[in-house]
Amino acid sequence: MPYKDQFAMLDKLLYIETFGCQMNVNDSERIVTMLADLGYAPTNDPSAADMILLNTCSVRGGAEEKVYKRLANLRIYKRDGKSQIIGVGGCVAQQEGEELLKKFPYLDLVFGTHNLHLLPDMVSGAERGERRSETAFIDNDQRLDLFPSIKGQSRLSRFVTVMQGCDNFCSYCIVPYVRGREISRRSADILAEVRQLADEGVKEIVLLGQNVNSYGLKTDNEPDFSRLIHLVAEVDGIERIRFTTSHPKDMSDDLIACFGNVPKLCGQIHLPAQSGSDAVLKQMKRGYTCAAYLEKVRKLKMVRPDIAITGDIIVGFPGESEADFEQTLSLMNEVRYMDLFSFVYSARPGTKAAELNEELTRSQKIVRLERLMELQKRITREICLRYVGTVQKVMVEGEGKRPGQISGKADNGRIVNFSGDSSLIGSFIDVRIIQAYPNSFLGEQLK
Ligand code: SF4
Repeated sequence: MPYKDQFAMLDKLLYIETFGCQMNVNDSERIVTMLADLGYAPTNDPSAADMILLNTCSVRGGAEEKVYKRLANLRIYKRDGKSQIIGVGGCVAQQEGEELLKKFPYLDLVFGTHNLHLLPDMVSGAERGERRSETAFIDNDQRLDLFPSIKGQSRLSRFVTVMQGCDNFCSYCIVPYVRGREISRRSADILAEVRQLADEGVKEIVLLGQNVNSYGLKTDNEPDFSRLIHLVAEVDGIERIRFTTSHPKDMSDDLIACFGNVPKLCGQIHLPAQSGSDAVLKQMKRGYTCAAYLEKVRKLKMVRPDIAITGDIIVGFPGESEADFEQTLSLMNEVRYMDLFSFVYSARPGTKAAELNEELTRSQKIVRLERLMELQKRITREICLRYVGTVQKVMVEGEGKRPGQISGKADNGRIVNFSGDSSLIGSFIDVRIIQAYPNSFLGEQLK
């Protein structure tokens, strides 16, 4: 059933606001699917909603304050005489739990990262006036049966969760504490979901997890991630595969080889380095050196010379000297990221790095960030300009930015807009790139 029609018979409205990462976006989609069974259809208007949910993230600094501020604002939507339900889920809910109910008397629901499956029951209770908080981690057997699968939303590209949680405990990161330890989903369940999505017309699968590269490594009788990619590629109807996110230390040679021997695997990888200094990487507990990271990049480019690499860098980690920072700039010059997500370090309470001394002021960190972003802007521009004149296969996913345009993704993940008829949505079209913008390409369809 088309996405819009799927909600046509529902008589209550759900407004959901999602913070942070792709895992949260996926969880929000799952919430929408689950609550449709209770009669809730999604809306973009909080003032019209019967229920407002915040799906929160605490990976970046200041997350709790942002959520508190938003919750304070939401109070105005609690209408007189009609009990509008307000709930908070995700990482901040996991950290704060019951405390949130105490701080915000008009809040009805708090659900942690392992408790999404309880939400329908919690919402039914809230409709009867009950307030409830659920944040307990559940055991692994139960987790294996509760991996998210999102049904009934017709789209060409879909995320499929293959693992959850993380065992790496990078010193700055809150994820292992709020998402729990790493668990790999059964490959049989993953493949069943991929086959079902292919039957629904999905053509591109993005395999999702906090560290997909370690998929299956701690589970008996399951394939590793490279083998899983081969198995997904065997599913008829699936024409493109991508994955995110990769930890460099778990990037095996077999996985790198997939970029050469699995034609359906797109030439795009997100490989966060976080720093180019060995001293900083050690403090971050990342488990690799700069040289080891660059060696993986070298192998990737050998197998797939046109691979588009994106990354994450944290600027101003405790102890980062000017020399350390310059090593990060030289790593960027060597890797030549197509895009880079860069952040100023801010301590997350409860992590090891929060105990380290910070020598840099926030404004000193921002100066470094600006230098880094300037360099990245130049690298992105140079890489993108090289695409002008090339022909890219575009999976057309919808209308473009301008009237008469359609839009889709090239194999490298870049958005391409070009003139064309919306009847081409769902097709793969050869497009010549005629202009490169910072975040997209303009193209023309080959005759
Ligand atoms: S690999 Fe490190 S940064 Fe990534 S989720 Fe795990 S602990 Fe956090």
